[in-house]
Amino acid sequence: MVTSLLLAVLMCFLGAMTWSFSEYALHNWVGHLGRGKNHFSREHLHHHSKGDYFAPAWQKLVASIAVVGPMGVVSVFLMGKLFGLSYTLGFSVMYFLYEWLHRRLHSHPPRGFYGRWARRHHFYHHFVNPKMNHGVTSPIWDIVFGTYVEPEQIRVPEKLAMEWLCDPQSGDVHTSFAHDYVLRRRKSVA
Ligand SMILES: [Zn+2]
Ligand SMILES: [Zn+2]
Repeated sequence: MVTSLLLAVLMCFLGAMTWSFSEYALHNWVGHLGRGKNHFSREHLHHHSKGDYFAPAWQKLVASIAVVGPMGVVSVFLMGKLFGLSYTLGFSVMYFLYEWLHRRLHSHPPRGFYGRWARRHHFYHHFVNPKMNHGVTSPIWDIVFGTYVEPEQIRVPEKLAMEWLCDPQSGDVHTSFAHDYVLRRRKSVA
């Protein structure tokens, strides 16, 4: 009984790691290397060019049901009910955490070490070098595939700046984030 439960927890963890790898693979190999030739890639490049654009939730829901449904059936068939469902649960929970975190990085200021790290990792990818830092929830696969960079101060284009980054009064980066980010302003014509 205890062994079965431990194995179920392990399967849950393996499911979460499967999403973690998919997060990297989809983002880098389908989203960026796809260069706009597939739907996911077009949506992702739009997210880059607009900054606050996310693919519609219904599209994500349809895609996740189309993946998680068959995954649940196949893994229950291969591993039995307990382990198959644990694996699928781990994958699904990690996927929803990723979706929540990605939106949150764009919409809310950092709180704590992980929040600060995740934003710097992701916004380096957005604004400095889109060939690097593809992982959103963790740096694991960037380290494995040699695309990990520890950012220095990140230059954020003024028109793409996250709302939480700037003081609405002055239009400058909040002093508490000035060590991590600086605005790249358009040169004035005057
Ligand atoms: Zn993003
Ligand atoms: Zn990207």
